[in-house]
Amino acid sequence: MKIVVDLDLCQGHAVCAAEAPEVFTVPRRGKVEILDTDPAPESRAAVMDAARYCPTRALSIIDGDDN
Ligand code: SF4
Repeated sequence: MKIVVDLDLCQGHAVCAAEAPEVFTVPRRGKVEILDTDPAPESRAAVMDAARYCPTRALSIIDGDDN
């Protein structure tokens, strides 16, 4: 899986970091930083939740062969 973020949409709510702190970090005033754009399969559920609950729908998950 690959994670793509649209930084024009991200408003720094940090829901993603709460769902998957090993993958997303958000500075106090800023936009999301993806720590791991190709996370391990164990992180998949948390990453999917992060994308689902992002208030601005800034995160997209692209599935590849490795999921
Ligand atoms: S939850 Fe969405 S809007 Fe909030 S920091 Fe993460 S990507 Fe940005």
